[in-house]
Amino acid sequence: MHISSIKTLLRESGLKVTPIRLALLNYLSKAKKPLSVEDLMQVKSLLEVDKVTLYRNLDTFVKKGIIQRLDLHRREAYFEMQHKHGHHHHIICMECGLIEDMHSCSMDIAVKNVEKKSKKFSKIIDHSMEFYGLCKKCDK
Ligand SMILES: [Zn+2]
Ligand SMILES: [Zn+2]
Ligand SMILES: [Zn+2]
Repeated sequence: MHISSIKTLLRESGLKVTPIRLALLNYLSKAKKPLSVEDLMQVKSLLEVDKVTLYRNLDTFVKKGIIQRLDLHRREAYFEMQHKHGHHHHIICMECGLIEDMHSCSMDIAVKNVEKKSKKFSKIIDHSMEFYGLCKKCDK
């Protein structure tokens, strides 16, 4: 994402433009996989920023729907841009933590089923599902 469109995104979300926010979203929008706070702490322009501040900013982004928080059964939470590459799932290696985006979704029937079986919901709008396994390297 271009810095100017990140600025626009922040303003449209009612957020102040700060160097930390710009750096965070710049990095997240370029990332090819979900990132943890540990990953983001390695970013050059964020080296001086403490973990609590990073978490607080990420939390704000999540609340505004700019990024998504993923619980990938790792020690830490992971984050990725909300609408970056459309609906997708993740496969996570239980050994080394490698993450692969999975763009094919075969949940249609399951979703219909949930709608039919639910007593309290009439409509399912979204879902998330992650897959856990061993990557080719770890499965040797
Ligand atoms: Zn692995
Ligand atoms: Zn992803
Ligand atoms: Zn899906």
